[in-house]
Amino acid sequence: MIRGILIEKTAGGQTARLADIDDGQLPAGDVTVDVAWSTLNYKDALAITGSSPVVRSFPMVPGIDFAGTVAASDNPAFRPGDSVVLNGWGVGEKHWGGLATRARVSADWLIPLPAAFSPRQAMSVGTAGYTAMLCVLALEKHGVKPGDGEVLVTGANGGVGTVAIAVLSKLGYRVVASTGRPQEAAFLTSLGAAAIIDRAELSAPGRPLGKERWAGAVDTVGSHTLANVCASLRYGGTVAACGLAQGLDFPATVAPFILRGITLAGIDSVMRPKADRLEAWSRLATDLDPSALDLITHGIGLEDVIATAGDLLAGKVRGRVAVRVA
Ligand code: NDP
Repeated sequence: MIRGILIEKTAGGQTARLADIDDGQLPAGDVTVDVAWSTLNYKDALAITGSSPVVRSFPMVPGIDFAGTVAASDNPAFRPGDSVVLNGWGVGEKHWGGLATRARVSADWLIPLPAAFSPRQAMSVGTAGYTAMLCVLALEKHGVKPGDGEVLVTGANGGVGTVAIAVLSKLGYRVVASTGRPQEAAFLTSLGAAAIIDRAELSAPGRPLGKERWAGAVDTVGSHTLANVCASLRYGGTVAACGLAQGLDFPATVAPFILRGITLAGIDSVMRPKADRLEAWSRLATDLDPSALDLITHGIGLEDVIATAGDLLAGKVRGRVAVRVA
């Protein structure tokens, strides 16, 4: 038997519970992993609460990330005892995920656990942190340099936002954090934010073009916020857009694109090719201070996952949540 979170379909929708599950029910895959740590991302919270149709087949073990040890492998790329990490690939959505003591997956989805991180630290990073790094890489690839001016991070207290602030500030950028929780200003400053703005400044419908302010931005919020960020990017600036915490809509005009040559770089972490994942994890190993991870993360057990998922969607969780599974 394995122990994990199980989401089942009901007449009225879906329900999630902590359950003992027959490991004969594990899905097909060439590598079986003893999961040590998982995490709770925004998408996991949506899946567990059923607030959004994240789960595509039932029953489902959620958890889009895990870190653990290979227990058995039919693939020469991995041997029993290897430490591995998984992020995304539809795991926890259409293939059983990391919020259970054992997982069975395709070897193609696994990467070696970077030496810089323990399994817990890797899950402190998780999809949120790996996505933050993909956003930073996108800014770099579009030529945004530390000396160019202020860089904005929206959804600052969230998982993506906190890691983005920590990495960008370590790289020498002057980071401005946009948040709806001004009471967390000291925390955001301790991560490296040079200034804090109220997210209300960005969340209402705005003008097609605003004052040029940001050399670059990491946006986790979407909707009017992303439109306003585009309108206030400096000439030639770039925003890496990865999230929809405010909304899925994007009520913008083409003005900043055709008059200021800005770039909107879309970031998907789920189906990202392996080479990009390895680059992101290797950069996290050098550009994310482990002490920042300690500041950002709090640990919970499997028994706390369902309640914490509700808190996360209610905006009550700060930073990252690592889940002890083993
Ligand atoms: P969290 O829930 O940890 O953080 C989201 C943050 O957004 C909150 O902490 C809050 O920050 C802010 N926020 C919440 N509601 C609103 C609102 N109505 N208007 C403006 N800001 C709001 O989520 P994550 O950081 O893990 O993920 C952020 C987004 O990125 C999510 O939409 C998620 O789905 C997406 N994502 C996308 C990925 C991809 O591959 N593209 C991968 C990972 C995440 P504060 O309190 O500071 O204002």
